[in-house]
Amino acid sequence: MESTMLDTQKSAALWLEAKDLMPGGVNSPVRAFRSVGGDPLFFERGQGAHLWDVDGNRYIDYIGAWGPAILGHAHPAVIAAVKAVLDNGFGFGAPTPAENQIAKVIREALPTMEVVRLVNSGTEATMSALRLARAFTGRDKIVKFIGCYHGHADMLLVQAGSGVATLGLPDSPGVPAASVANTLTLPFNDMAALDALFAAEGDAIAGVIIEPVVGNAGVLVPEPGFLEHLRALTARHGTLLIFDEVMTGFRVAWGGAQCRFGIEPDLTCLAKAIGGGMPIGAYGGRREIMDMVAPAGPMYQAGTMSGNPAAVAAGLATLAELAKPGVYARLEETTQQLARGLKQAADEAGVPVQVNQLGAMFTLFFTETPVKDWETAKASDTAKFGRYHRLMREAGIYLPPSQFEANFVSLAHGPAEVEATIAAARKAFKVL
Ligand SMILES: *Cc1c(COP(=O)(O)O)cnc(C)c1O
Repeated sequence: MESTMLDTQKSAALWLEAKDLMPGGVNSPVRAFRSVGGDPLFFERGQGAHLWDVDGNRYIDYIGAWGPAILGHAHPAVIAAVKAVLDNGFGFGAPTPAENQIAKVIREALPTMEVVRLVNSGTEATMSALRLARAFTGRDKIVKFIGCYHGHADMLLVQAGSGVATLGLPDSPGVPAASVANTLTLPFNDMAALDALFAAEGDAIAGVIIEPVVGNAGVLVPEPGFLEHLRALTARHGTLLIFDEVMTGFRVAWGGAQCRFGIEPDLTCLAKAIGGGMPIGAYGGRREIMDMVAPAGPMYQAGTMSGNPAAVAAGLATLAELAKPGVYARLEETTQQLARGLKQAADEAGVPVQVNQLGAMFTLFFTETPVKDWETAKASDTAKFGRYHRLMREAGIYLPPSQFEANFVSLAHGPAEVEATIAAARKAFKVL
């Protein structure tokens, strides 16, 4: 274990206990810090761009609850909205007016989502969207891209990026070969591979699912023309194009990556930011496709907790803040300043890095070569990243504990946080 300047005794005691209570001590693998070394911290509260651990140490947070905290933590409007609904009960297993409201906001922001179904997580959204693609096309095969993560459904646990890769599991045991037999994988940003696959099997492919800007291999930005080509090719073959915007939705633009790149997917998956920290997800798309979903149509999908009032209230309040003028320009500006400052600091110290950024997400890769897909991401020096992560943590900067994750910037991050982060990185790069 690292010697540490910070006092983290309470975290250490809780960690010891947690390891006995939960698998690997956590309720989601990336929290365990396996790939960066050191023990995870336990947190007491968040406010704005900051987190406080149980020992009272304060950190500038770049995980943002893995995306939901796009306004910053404990935003007063979101807290007030949730408090306002709690006295009325936690859910009735029956329709509520707020569900109409959030569906309308989502459709207004992402017009391709003509009809929206709420679920409780990103995993539920993607597995449902793929079932729907199969139901609608009457085909079985699906395509995903290497390094993209779409939740932990069996059929999608192939070449699934950060969490899975970080643990060094090529696939997960417990996933029957039959479950992934119809899952085909392609490298991101590789048009030739895409063409070859569609030439061979295009007419048998129900859907292609993609993170239009990848977050789960670290940030990978689509090369000009790649998404356009994918759209044209899938349309020609009657294959549904599914944008998994669980991370990018309401983050890289109000209308998500599809709006930034001007691409109209057939189906879209959302989660994370649309719940403002509460468990929520959504999928939606063209009416003729969504009309297949029960009870409008025969494709079954359901959820006891779906559209529950607390989650929807938190989501609506979050989206109302994000709808205000200038929000996305500010997020982009803050994130660009950070990305530029980190790159400059690394250059000055002679540490080779690549910084990929789009909207309020970025990744600093410790590698000399531009990172455009999983192969080039994987070439990063993960040991160096681990040392960087520990140095930054010591300096009060809380980064995602894996080289292959996105950093998330919120509206609560301002010039002071940007400067402090770059200053800490400058020191870290000097001793790497
Ligand atoms: C986080 C994530 C998911 C899974 O969402 P959960 O809410 O964790 O189930 C799916 N797709 C993408 C792109 C994600 O980033």
